[in-house]
Amino acid sequence: MPTTQTIYRTHRIQEISEHTQGLSITISGWVSSIRDHGELIFIDLRESEILQIRLNRDHLADFDQLAKIKPESTIQVSGIIIKRESDDYNSSLRTGTIELDATEIIILNMSKTLPFEIKKAHKTKESLRMKYKFLEMRSDSVQKTLLHRHKIIKSIRDSLDDQDFIEVETPVLTAGSEEGSREFIIPSRQHPGEFYTLPQAPQQFKQMLMTGGIEKYFQIAKCFRDEDSRGDRQPEFTQLDMELAFVSMQDIIDLNTKLFQKIIPAVYTSKWKIKPFQTITYKTAMDKYGTDKPDIRFDLFLEDITDIVRKTEFEVFKKPIQDGGIVKCIKVSHNLQTKKISKGQIEKLTLLAQSHGLGGLAYIIVKEDELQSPIIKYLGESVSQEIIKFTQAQPGDIVFFSAAHPKIANAALDAVRRKLADMLDLIPKKELHPLWVIDFPQFERTDDGSWTFSHNPFSLPKPEYLKQHMKITDTAEILAQQYDLVLNGHEIAGGSIRSHSPDVLTATYKHMGYSDEQIQKSIGHMLEAFSYGAPPHGGIAWGIDRLMMILEEKESIRDVIAFPKTGSGQDILFQSPSPLSEQKLHEANIRTTFLQK
Ligand code: ASP
Repeated sequence: MPTTQTIYRTHRIQEISEHTQGLSITISGWVSSIRDHGELIFIDLRESEILQIRLNRDHLADFDQLAKIKPESTIQVSGIIIKRESDDYNSSLRTGTIELDATEIIILNMSKTLPFEIKKAHKTKESLRMKYKFLEMRSDSVQKTLLHRHKIIKSIRDSLDDQDFIEVETPVLTAGSEEGSREFIIPSRQHPGEFYTLPQAPQQFKQMLMTGGIEKYFQIAKCFRDEDSRGDRQPEFTQLDMELAFVSMQDIIDLNTKLFQKIIPAVYTSKWKIKPFQTITYKTAMDKYGTDKPDIRFDLFLEDITDIVRKTEFEVFKKPIQDGGIVKCIKVSHNLQTKKISKGQIEKLTLLAQSHGLGGLAYIIVKEDELQSPIIKYLGESVSQEIIKFTQAQPGDIVFFSAAHPKIANAALDAVRRKLADMLDLIPKKELHPLWVIDFPQFERTDDGSWTFSHNPFSLPKPEYLKQHMKITDTAEILAQQYDLVLNGHEIAGGSIRSHSPDVLTATYKHMGYSDEQIQKSIGHMLEAFSYGAPPHGGIAWGIDRLMMILEEKESIRDVIAFPKTGSGQDILFQSPSPLSEQKLHEANIRTTFLQK
């Protein structure tokens, strides 16, 4: 790093070492800690690193004044680099054998008493950390995370630039789109009664760019969805958005696989071991793992035993099957249980299953000479034995069951599977297990029984389903050229090859029950654009926040965003959202009445 002499600094700490002993320097930074020993005071001065400052009463006229400096004040220190007494070495600092013997200290800005210690920021209540974000940000952990985030994004930009992509900015004030989430709306002052929406993703813009001959587009894009926040969701978030013309699904998968393999080692040189990419179909993911974003770091698999238990009189299984549900199970082999699963753990798993909609969590423990379970007497000995045979369960194994509507049965067992992995310590540390999930259904049922798109209305069906697609038949069967990238159980990217022909896109909307008029209103502009020689195209978008959450090993995406919103969508520091003054509302041509407040 070049030395830039400013009025505050002749050097940065990173330029100082044992080799610069005797050098007279001026540095500036934050008081990380201050220790008063009477005739001597020690300050740990922090900028990109820490350097110990020695304040000697004999060298500083204002010594008593300086003793009152509060932690986290900013100071400017001039002095000479000297070697420390050997019993004063600090092996945890690069600069641990030297210190700056101060000849002058200027207090640039005195800090108030802190609401929490910076070093303990991570242990502080989140609401307090959010209110004092500017203090939490001074902690080593947040500084590192923001630096890594910057480097990942830079690495993405450099890599895509090398491959002739160009970054194009797309609007934030836009019209409603068709991505399926609730949108934020912005009233228009110039067009009273009309509204902009904030984009859920630049989906339609990037497709217009393809139509406009920008063949390789990307953007680090802000996206907005008016949904309740969760650990891995925020009302505004960042995507790496990408689209290419004249590409196949495999081209996009290959390109993104290479990008992943390039950027992560570029930033985290040795922290992460990247396992080989795997690919599975949506159907296999649902069958084996009960989710379309399986965590493949551990071998626990779901099995469907609906046919085996179909004949049972056991109400817990019988009723869901009669109602069109399924029965699935998961076997925990004794090999995986370094410590036997305890009663308390089974209770915890049961509560978890219940929170996902199951009545309870039935199980069978396989013993040397018997099966142990409260359900055997209802299930019957022979059906129980059939299950054991089917699952090849051995003495010491436990089999857990989930019987419900497929959605609930799968979701509950997926949650149980993940929890078991956690309890049994099955998750390998510092490993990334990337997985492409392909062959998603083009459509899914809504709660009211009608059809909607499963991921993206612009996805193109797989070639073998195009005939049915155009005839508007077999809606449930049609598979799309759609793919997700899943990492350690989180969906980190998703995309598709698009329907670039107006006819195919129109058919998608017909499957979803749109009339010609509704289609025109909704995507007329896309159909018009595509009818001027739009190229075949496809793309993908990565959730940068989720990726960073995994790479930084954080619990929530809030921990990798400089200014996140709370779980209820508020920014405590800047106090948004907040009411507007009458005058501002008047200027915007708005009078407010609320349906609920
Ligand atoms: N726009 C899509 C999304 O945000 C991603 C894509 O299909 O490119 O999920």
